[in-house]
Amino acid sequence: MRQIAIYGKGGIGKSTTTQNLAAALAELGKKLMLIGCDPKADSTRLILGELAKTTVLDTMRHTDEDDMELEQFLFEGYRGIKAVESGGPEPGVGCAGRGIVASINMLENLGAYTSDLDYVLYDVLGDVVCGGFAMPIREGKAQEIYIVCSGEMMSLYAANNICKGIQRYAAAGKTKLGGLICNSRLVDNERALVEEFAGKLNTRLLYFLPRDNMVQRAECKRKTVIEFDPDCAQAQEYRRLADAIEDNTMFTVPTPISVDELERLMMKYAEI
Ligand code: ADP
Ligand code: MG
Repeated sequence: MRQIAIYGKGGIGKSTTTQNLAAALAELGKKLMLIGCDPKADSTRLILGELAKTTVLDTMRHTDEDDMELEQFLFEGYRGIKAVESGGPEPGVGCAGRGIVASINMLENLGAYTSDLDYVLYDVLGDVVCGGFAMPIREGKAQEIYIVCSGEMMSLYAANNICKGIQRYAAAGKTKLGGLICNSRLVDNERALVEEFAGKLNTRLLYFLPRDNMVQRAECKRKTVIEFDPDCAQAQEYRRLADAIEDNTMFTVPTPISVDELERLMMKYAEI
């Protein structure tokens, strides 16, 4: 069982990419569980064809611990992919990161990690400033991390911060960075920029995903691109991403860079 966490700045395309990746791996016959670790609880909508009816934390709030059952919050979607949302605390109270810790522990206690699973994918919010969001790394739940970014400054800044978190926890555990996934925002010389950035971080650009409005069309229909239009070019891109992850053997401890160095890099590739 490979346990993979996908990190990246909010809005960069983690959930879209993770779900299309899951769909592509499912096409290859792989068994998957997808765990949304974002209080927005929208990480599984394209796999389930709707927002998950409940989350682990919601269920925990309304059910005695002894009465908790997986079926309450674990749902099956596209090609049998299992999908769970950890959910979040009530707005304004509690720490969302700690909620993720509680919900992953609950999934373990209820036996969600069955031996037939080939992949468990964690779709994790934003940055690792809060320790709870680092949980899949810190507790060694995920052995592989991929960071979704683009060539935009704030997304590279977040990627660099996430690398600081991985560096901190990787030393103690088994978690390593498997690479960057560039989800294009049509920035000047984006591929070359992210490639050089990746090199400085002691990792590599694993895959460059083009921007394509097919993603929005599929999203409107609550589907992955793979399900919505299996023959389109973007579906093929997600299949190639799945192959790159299947075949990946390069795992490293990242070496974050300074903000000055990051800014110099941006300047080098900007067409100004
Ligand atoms: P995150 O989970 O990182 O917050 P989402 O996956 O929800 O981000 O993506 C944010 C928006 O970007 C979505 O509305 C999605 O349709 C769009 N998007 C993501 N990837 C692409 C892409 N490759 N091409 C076009 N639009 C994309
Ligand atoms: Mg998301």
